[in-house]
Amino acid sequence: MSLAPYPSPEGRERMLDELAVPLGGELVVYGTSVEGRPLRALRIPSSGGPGRPRALCCANIHGVELIGAYLLLTLLRRLAAEESDLAPLREAAEIWVVPALNPDGYARTWERGGIGRLPELRANARGVDLNRNFPLPPGATPSRLPSAGSSEPGAATYRGPHPLSEPESAAIAELAATIDAHAGLNLHSFMGTVIPASVRDRPAYATYRRLCRAFAAAQPGPRYRRLAHRHLDVFTGEMEDHQHHNLDTWAACVEIFPLLATFRQHLRAPSLFWRFNPRDPDRWAANDIPGIAAFLLAALATPRPRALAQPVLEDSSSAG
Ligand SMILES: [Zn+2]
Repeated sequence: MSLAPYPSPEGRERMLDELAVPLGGELVVYGTSVEGRPLRALRIPSSGGPGRPRALCCANIHGVELIGAYLLLTLLRRLAAEESDLAPLREAAEIWVVPALNPDGYARTWERGGIGRLPELRANARGVDLNRNFPLPPGATPSRLPSAGSSEPGAATYRGPHPLSEPESAAIAELAATIDAHAGLNLHSFMGTVIPASVRDRPAYATYRRLCRAFAAAQPGPRYRRLAHRHLDVFTGEMEDHQHHNLDTWAACVEIFPLLATFRQHLRAPSLFWRFNPRDPDRWAANDIPGIAAFLLAALATPRPRALAQPVLEDSSSAG
């Protein structure tokens, strides 16, 4: 069963190899998955010279969400183009791109033709939801909300035995800490939203509102809404929370492919795959890549989160 126009796992890696050449990029193997696949990142030197801040763009932490990897490969192609509209981003930052954080989940989705239950296609090879496997911020307590992560193996959001128990999450956490990124985006599907790291302090909350507005304002088509609430947000072991609170990075999750678009595509999708992935990915690449660039540029022009932080002032109206 074809998942075209999405590339096979081998095709994805081949494209990464090919795109590294015109970008003058350096391919870095930063770890190995449970099933032995190399975890690969592409470092693109800044056209603005050495010493620029770093931006980290990742996708496919969830196996079934191939649109994320597709978008990042398209981003690389556009960065490599002569007279690229993304030239300001290349000049502002050294960009690190990881198209597939969970290559085993990608390969499983591919082998099964995109057919399966969510826990089967989302997790890594040990059934762990990698995006519930990151350390919580200091002092945070886990939430009991179902979406916040489950301690039950077999659940779609099984968080694993302990934070960073999985080679894929441990390796990207180490890479992210090493490169000390100023800004980061993690691509998911579906929803058509931008979900910044959960923050309570006013300057960070206001900054994310501004960054998400920049994202939406740059989108030519459907504009993604920000999903955040300063008092209701919970910590769930997600990567962008780890990046913001533990690594001092402006970070957000982008849920590509609006709800309305996926239900227009199929009221009843023939498989889980075609619920999560658009049949016309180029349309969403064209719509979302300007947003990604705008978010990153705005974040790079803002002092890092810790430099901006001030003591937390709770609203007296808050129920706590
Ligand atoms: Zn996801």
